[in-house]
Amino acid sequence: MRLQAGSIKEVELRLSPSDLDNTELILFKIRKKLKLGDSADFHFEITRKSIDARKSPVYVLRCRVSKDPFAEERSRAIQPQVINEKSKTCLIVGAGPAGYFAALELLAQGIKPVVLERGKDVRRRRRDLRAIQQEGTVNPHSNYCYGEGGAGTYSDGKLYTRSQKRGRIIDILETLVEHGAPTDILIDAHPHIGSNKLPNIVSAIRESIEKNGGEVLFDHCVTDFIIKEGDIIGLETEEGKSFHADGVILATGHSARDIFKLCDKHDLLLEKKDFALGVRIEHPQALIDKIQYGMKPRPESLPASSYGLACQIEEKGVFSFCMCPGGLIVPAATSPGEIVVNGMSLSRRDSPYSNSGFVTAINQDEMEERGYKGLFAHLDFQAKLEQEFYKAGDGSQAAPAQRVTDFNKGKLSDNLGDSSYIPGIYAAPLHELLPDFIVDRMRKALRIFDQKMKGYYTEEAQMIGLESRTSSPIRIPREKETGMHRDLKGFFPCGEGAGYAGGILSAAMDGRNVARKVKEYLDA
Ligand SMILES: Cc1cc2nc3c(=O)[nH]c(=O)nc-3n(C[C@H](O)[C@H](O)[C@H](O)COP(=O)(O)OP(=O)(O)OC[C@H]3O[C@@H](n4cnc5c(N)ncnc54)[C@H](O)[C@@H]3O)c2cc1C
Repeated sequence: MRLQAGSIKEVELRLSPSDLDNTELILFKIRKKLKLGDSADFHFEITRKSIDARKSPVYVLRCRVSKDPFAEERSRAIQPQVINEKSKTCLIVGAGPAGYFAALELLAQGIKPVVLERGKDVRRRRRDLRAIQQEGTVNPHSNYCYGEGGAGTYSDGKLYTRSQKRGRIIDILETLVEHGAPTDILIDAHPHIGSNKLPNIVSAIRESIEKNGGEVLFDHCVTDFIIKEGDIIGLETEEGKSFHADGVILATGHSARDIFKLCDKHDLLLEKKDFALGVRIEHPQALIDKIQYGMKPRPESLPASSYGLACQIEEKGVFSFCMCPGGLIVPAATSPGEIVVNGMSLSRRDSPYSNSGFVTAINQDEMEERGYKGLFAHLDFQAKLEQEFYKAGDGSQAAPAQRVTDFNKGKLSDNLGDSSYIPGIYAAPLHELLPDFIVDRMRKALRIFDQKMKGYYTEEAQMIGLESRTSSPIRIPREKETGMHRDLKGFFPCGEGAGYAGGILSAAMDGRNVARKVKEYLDA
């Protein structure tokens, strides 16, 4: 076969892990697949990389092959424009992925963003994270959920979303690459960045915002809306400052309980929403590798393996959530007096532990049956459990833990294994700390998960609680057409806190989409 000038062929190659970087072999395989002669001259580029671990793990590469060199494609990253003093202004509450991507898109649309963030910039935020980890002190404005980059900064940095409907994911990935993310994220089937790289990317995005005329103000906690005749015209902060603008994007994340109460105080429609709650489950990474790859130890050419598990128990979902291979469990409380855990990892995912949320969906009907009625019932239930988990301990951020086998037997663990959770774990009856209906579902699901992944249910696996901030239990609804809240003109709820995203990528896309709605509103 001959490659025609100007035509591009697609091929899929399977390579053993140790051959991933063997260019000679890749060229040989392409020649063979396309029946090209030994002397054929061609160019190739990898467009997708995944692992097929069903039998012995292999890399699956999708490649484009062409006789001509591939032209440098125009970047699809968001291109902010320098704004001028005549530009309209939009306030953004929250510097998470939704807030920062909304800011970039506003700049691309010629609108000045002013971001008000209650927490600190990534550098100063790090000190507060150290204080939670080492001294158990939670700063209510600066923690694993609050501060520059939002909840996504010190995370695993997984960058995938099930929702393809929100827009072009590649634009967001390329924007991250332009700000320092590794180019691998553009081709990996399951891209992730890691907590050691995310802070620099986040601060590079801030520099882009500021360089083009936007503003980012840290240590500015928004405490009130300024409303005039049904229009939001500005915001007030805890420090007593007022800010006025042509529109407001609210991107405060799922933990900003004070913001939900503020919306309610102003009689804005809010809706209760289903949510999920449970624990983190931690296994030795070597055990997960053995189950997933059938190899122990895992060769260096393969990344720490991951999993995704789900089942239905009495028509309610129980599932793994935010799996962090080679990761760490972190204290993610946003107020003193509560225990909340979550997971993160470094880019190399090289800790000896794997963790994931092990949670069950909780819907409105079953909450009502149990007497949790009213708009804030879910939120209060979440908060109450977080406080009970705290009270079970010694007043530090040490977290209650139990071996999964003991959890199913209803027995306190005599001893615990090591854990990645730096504040420490102690043996506690999670089967008593969690409500019965949740315990019952989790027990059944553990057995099912073990059938799906032989060896998952083991004495070596420990549960650490509480995993309660999986998503927002409240939605701040917006009109589909305008993107605005129906009760307040110029007010645009956005991201995970408004109930329109779940994860870094979907929050970033929502931020971008909402910024476009702001543009339509200001142009009308
Ligand atoms: C430890 C951890 C690990 C995670 N790992 C992943 C992962 O690997 N992949 C993934 O996709 N998702 C992950 N997530 C979830 C992800 O981070 C969130 O889905 C995402 O950050 C939501 O983006 P957002 O912009 O809507 O809100 P957030 O990121 O929550 O940002 C909201 C911002 O608003 C600020 N704010 C709140 N109230 C106020 C106020 N009154 N005034 C001013 N500012 C305010 C907060 O300080 C915060 O910075 C993780 C979350 C955590 C906590």
